Amino acid sequence: MDCLFCKIAAKEIPAEIAFENERVVAFADINPQAPTHLQIIPREHIASTLEVEPARRELIGELVEVAAELARERGISDEGYRLVFNTGGAAGQSVYHIHLHLLGGRSFGWPPG
Ligand code: AMP
Ligand code: ZN
Repeated sequence: MDCLFCKIAAKEIPAEIAFENERVVAFADINPQAPTHLQIIPREHIASTLEVEPARRELIGELVEVAAELARERGISDEGYRLVFNTGGAAGQSVYHIHLHLLGGRSFGWPPG
């Protein structure tokens, strides 16, 4: 599978890993948009939120749980943080391996650009 995030999960491409277990990997975004900007991904190749199905509910929920734990660890949980799944071209998805952006350490506008 020629997928950048599969390769990061397999350690074939280096990344600053923040957390990993048998199912989930979190790593620093290479082009951070906030003081904290991590990507939380499943090891399983899932292209986008359009491929979330009942058998994957627990796995996708674990991404949110890991994000919350990392937010606590990094001291941004009290002030608040943003979680984002970009899906498809209009939303700006550029890597087609589902990833949850964890952004924090600054204030965010709404609506997003
Ligand atoms: P999206 O636009 O939602 O698909 O997000 C893709 C994210 O992956 C962007 O924030 C990129 O900066 C990030 N990214 C791309 N390549 C790498 C890499 N090699 N290591 C870490 N993050 C990356
Ligand atoms: Zn992949």
